[in-house]
Amino acid sequence: MLTERLKQLTPSPTVSLDTKIKELQTKGIPIINLGLGEPDFATPKIISDAGIDAIESGFTHYTTVAGIPELRNAIATELQKENGLKYNSDEIIVGVGSKAILYNIFLALCNPGDEVLVATPTWNTYLEQIKLAGGIPVTVPLAPPFKLTAAELEKNLSKKTKIILLNSPSNPTGAVIEREELEQIARLAVKHNLYVISDEIYERLRYAKTPYISIASLGEEIKKRTIVVNGFSKTYAMTGWRIGFAAGPKEIISALSSLQGQITSCTSSIAQKAALAALKESKESVTEMLTEFAARREYLIREFSKLKKLSFSAPEGAFYFFVSIKKLLSEKYPTSEAWCSGLLEKEHLAVVPGEAFESPGYFRLSFAASFTDLKKGIESIKKFIV
Ligand code: PLP
Repeated sequence: MLTERLKQLTPSPTVSLDTKIKELQTKGIPIINLGLGEPDFATPKIISDAGIDAIESGFTHYTTVAGIPELRNAIATELQKENGLKYNSDEIIVGVGSKAILYNIFLALCNPGDEVLVATPTWNTYLEQIKLAGGIPVTVPLAPPFKLTAAELEKNLSKKTKIILLNSPSNPTGAVIEREELEQIARLAVKHNLYVISDEIYERLRYAKTPYISIASLGEEIKKRTIVVNGFSKTYAMTGWRIGFAAGPKEIISALSSLQGQITSCTSSIAQKAALAALKESKESVTEMLTEFAARREYLIREFSKLKKLSFSAPEGAFYFFVSIKKLLSEKYPTSEAWCSGLLEKEHLAVVPGEAFESPGYFRLSFAASFTDLKKGIESIKKFIV
């Protein structure tokens, strides 16, 4: 009954974890969930108020498909100020979260059989979206500290390679690609006439004081073939508002707008007004959230360092630790999936197994959770591994 396209779709790997969590919760067992990929903070009030204003003032209808001009202008200003990226507002599209935008980009750029290079560990949505769009994801496996290099990409090039996907800082590893390496990757992309999709959604959530480098800022040649993807979900704790954006060459953005016009139309008018307030008025809240994330990260670095059977690279960005449990796998728990299931059943702690990121032997722990939960989480891990 279902199409071939859908038969290829791997269901979200966190679904079985979620089912198990719910099962335990219905039995009345409290679960500490460090598996989530969203900030645990409330959306800053100033942003929510702008949404409420939009509703109360009747700003509740369709807008231009690509987003209201004020918002696209504000995004252009922000990209220029924060990332040295110069885009006109017609080179920017706002949509229903960066996830939906990414899918539209793959639909717009992948002909059947076109290959997209994706470094692993990776957020598995990329792989599924590429397949759905008719492309072929080619994984580029990385070793700790999981920093993508041009050399690794080059090894995986073929005549069919069309796109390089970058995600820096990365979900799930938190790794950031440094400027020198981005320059090499840009050279490679230009030399082989490839597109680059640069998912920069965790760009503000970084723990070094150095400025963020977007590959698109490294010269006109690379900018012409790059689509920068970003959004409001992570930086402004706005996951439920469903709003993200892309910036890139006008022809591509205009194609994305035609596509979006036939699929979702604009994103919510209310979310657009809220996002405008996020850009203009919520710098302080972002700094506060980042300070809290940084303190949690420090705490976890200290605690994980004491657990000699585990190994990890300190995340440079995002809010995840990607921890190796290879030394702990045994007959009882032969895979990271089994190990994480055991941790959930015995200690009632949920983390996501590496299999969900194409990298067995690890788990991803999110520190988008309170200190109380993180402390309980560490205690549970200690008990589980003795
Ligand atoms: N990109 C990465 C790497 C993510 O981890 C996520 C969410 O988990 C997204 C994009 C999607 O974010 P949204 O659709 O909420 O903008």
